[in-house]
Amino acid sequence: MLSDRIPHHPVETTRQTFEQLGLSAAILSAIREVGFEHPTPIQASVIPPALEGRDLIALAQTGSGKTAAFVIPLAEKLTHGKGLRALIVSPTREIALQTQAFIELFGKNHELNSACLIGGVRMKPQFEALKESPDIIVATPGRLLDHIERRTIDVGAVDELVLDEADHMLDLGFLPQIRKIVQRLPRTRRTMMFSATMPPSIEQLAQTMLRDPLRIDIMPKGRTAVGISHRLYVVAPENKRACLLALLHQELGSTLVFTRRKVDAEWLFHILERQGHPVSRIHSDRSQGGRTQALDQFREGSHRILVATDIAGRGIDVPGITHVINFDIPESVEDYIHRAGRTARVDLEGIVSTIATWQDLMMVRTIELEIGQQIPRCTVPGVEPWVEGPKKETTKRRRL
Ligand code: AMP
Repeated sequence: MLSDRIPHHPVETTRQTFEQLGLSAAILSAIREVGFEHPTPIQASVIPPALEGRDLIALAQTGSGKTAAFVIPLAEKLTHGKGLRALIVSPTREIALQTQAFIELFGKNHELNSACLIGGVRMKPQFEALKESPDIIVATPGRLLDHIERRTIDVGAVDELVLDEADHMLDLGFLPQIRKIVQRLPRTRRTMMFSATMPPSIEQLAQTMLRDPLRIDIMPKGRTAVGISHRLYVVAPENKRACLLALLHQELGSTLVFTRRKVDAEWLFHILERQGHPVSRIHSDRSQGGRTQALDQFREGSHRILVATDIAGRGIDVPGITHVINFDIPESVEDYIHRAGRTARVDLEGIVSTIATWQDLMMVRTIELEIGQQIPRCTVPGVEPWVEGPKKETTKRRRL
């Protein structure tokens, strides 16, 4: 039974079994309960050396199964009651909370206790959580450093450190904080670092923080094929907005959001801006100057989200867009193809997420016929998926 506390996205798995990776019966049973049948490539590569205690740096994208790749070996190695032993540093609050959900699921048979220390929320509940003697802490850098400096946590016995999404962490300017945190940890600790890309800045960071690391890179070499993953989120109309917000927190790359109407592009832009997202918008009611500025902000990366309508979105040729979100399903298959074509340019990979209501399912089928594949049905935590009626459900199961 898959837990509804973690996201469910289609993921490529290997033919190996978790039993082959050297895990104990307690952890294997937790994995079975979560519903994972086979390890993903990153899990199969990371878990065995992680169990041996090696430092490692893994090239792994969000969506490759990397969270479980580091949570499972930590769950295996730690048992409750020996004080704070592991720290996981995440770039955003949402990723930290999701990681904590993984710890609770996989660590439950070792009775692992975790605390999540994230910014933007009150300190008091975090002090309370710290009194419960957590074995693992998941934290965003600023708040973690704050606790270390106030001495509300003792990191003197931490022997496991995970830096998740290391490249995003550098993008977001966390490096000075990361350095300060790492300096406070015992030198004898083991470190695992995960990053979607390996620019020189990450390599440099790795050299200063890792000891004889194993470098794990499961990305196919010389990728030339365009790799677009399609995902479908079927929700009730009133949940479309919540679904979009959850997706924006989950995938951190450069994101293009499509709406059908100009007023909705404008509306969404204001909602996202109010939520603190770096966002711009482009539609035909905006002045040329405004549109050019919006595109420049998006291209330069100062605004990672661009909300667009179809007409305005057609001309967008910005390299490095990793995620296209159809907030409204397009009116035609051609529009879907055009929208999808904004991502995965040249040799990159991209995700196209479509948020749909039951009224859009006819169009979904038309798109599926055109692209020659069934688009996997996905869910995000906190947003109820809309369940198709009994008759349709049979069809859905068969086709999935
Ligand atoms: P992540 O890369 O950690 O964000 O995980 C991506 C998605 O893959 C999440 O929805 C996980 O629940 C799912 N997932 C991770 N590992 C497995 C596995 N071995 N089998 C099935 N689903 C998995």
